[in-house]
Amino acid sequence: MNNGYDIIIVGAGSFGMSAGYFTAKSGLRVLLIDAHNPPHEQGSHHGGTRIYRSAYTMGPAYAQLALRAGELWSELAEEAREWGSSHYCGSGMAKADAEIFRKTGVVSIGDTNSRFLQSKQDSCMEFGIPYERLKPKELMDRWPGFCIPEHTEGLYEPQAGVLFSENIIRVYRILAERCGADFRTNERVESIVSGSAQQMVRTSAGTYYADRVLVCGGAFSAALLPELKHLVRPVRKAIGWFEAPACLYGSGVFPAFIVNKGGTEEYYGFPDLDGRGVKVGRHDGGETVLPGAELPPFGTHPEDEEDLQSFINLYLPKVGSLSKGGTCLYENAPGEHFLIGELPERPGIWFAGGGSGHGFKFSSSIGEALSQLLAVGRSHCDLSSFAFQRSL
Ligand SMILES: Cc1cc2nc3c(=O)[nH]c(=O)nc-3n(C[C@H](O)[C@H](O)[C@H](O)COP(=O)(O)OP(=O)(O)OC[C@H]3O[C@@H](n4cnc5c(N)ncnc54)[C@H](O)[C@@H]3O)c2cc1C
Repeated sequence: MNNGYDIIIVGAGSFGMSAGYFTAKSGLRVLLIDAHNPPHEQGSHHGGTRIYRSAYTMGPAYAQLALRAGELWSELAEEAREWGSSHYCGSGMAKADAEIFRKTGVVSIGDTNSRFLQSKQDSCMEFGIPYERLKPKELMDRWPGFCIPEHTEGLYEPQAGVLFSENIIRVYRILAERCGADFRTNERVESIVSGSAQQMVRTSAGTYYADRVLVCGGAFSAALLPELKHLVRPVRKAIGWFEAPACLYGSGVFPAFIVNKGGTEEYYGFPDLDGRGVKVGRHDGGETVLPGAELPPFGTHPEDEEDLQSFINLYLPKVGSLSKGGTCLYENAPGEHFLIGELPERPGIWFAGGGSGHGFKFSSSIGEALSQLLAVGRSHCDLSSFAFQRSL
């Protein structure tokens, strides 16, 4: 039986779905396999929204990728708009399910002389990213929903905003199918066997062959690639949606935000998007989740709510009570740096992941760059600083 493909993508979530679209668009024969039916709530892309910003402090490769991602998000939003509601109705999608990006602006708040703010400002200056520095009174005059302590400042990126993560995966999936990608969903990959000429992927339902395999399995990727055992750590994160007056916290009047407290604690959040409430989460910390273990639901630990509430009491005092809680998985890699490339000891097997709680915004440009690398061996955005050689 010859069910061979140029590429099999294992995991059709944030990175995998985008890579699937771009590789299919480039003319390669692609099969995407996912244990669930993306978008879904079993990985790292649910909860509706992700922050997009481009002032990056982790090295120039990130800022370049973020800027290219921004162009690709605009193209995707344009394409989604052009198709119009009739197309989406035909695909079983409502028009609201096709919103890709909302430009709310993003403000980063930290100690006045912190590296957190200074490095973002340096990145804005180096890459020509528009920004404003704002003192506490200026922050509170512009956004009266905030309470900002003294000795703190903000760096505002007006071009930044909110990505609709599940919508994006849904739209990329439609586009990938239109470009000829095959899908096997609700089919778990059990093993990947490397060969000199062909790779073999065994699932709960069958066996598939391809020249190359790209693993984008998210938090539990080490179950498929033991090389990742000490490199990708699944971490449980608690998120809350809180009632809030739209006149103070609606997306037309309030930005998305990241708050660094004292250099170690980092909270982030979103304005109220069409009555869904202000969403707040914490970036640092969280408990490691063992493969196969149940993810304890929100509220299992009292601190799930207490922690978010104490942040709200300090910085967002006019926000009301919790309306909904949820949990999601980070896929943390050392130094929060992505891991992307071919495995050194297993030619033909690629991995893209380690998004470490900040990867979604890059998923468009990472997918595009991966497709270029897989198709022609080089990419416009340089992914070499994410290669495995630096980590293994
Ligand atoms: C609470 C939270 C907030 C975040 N906020 C932001 C933010 O504001 N901005 C930002 O840029 N990023 C953010 N992130 C990070 C971002 O969402 C992740 O980095 C990104 O979604 C990771 O993508 P992925 O493709 O690696 O994983 P996923 O999207 O989880 O995809 C992995 C896929 O692999 C499939 N899979 C796994 N194992 C198998 C198998 N054996 N067989 C078949 N399929 C399999 C899964 O079903 C899943 O569909 C946040 C993450 C979380 C959890």
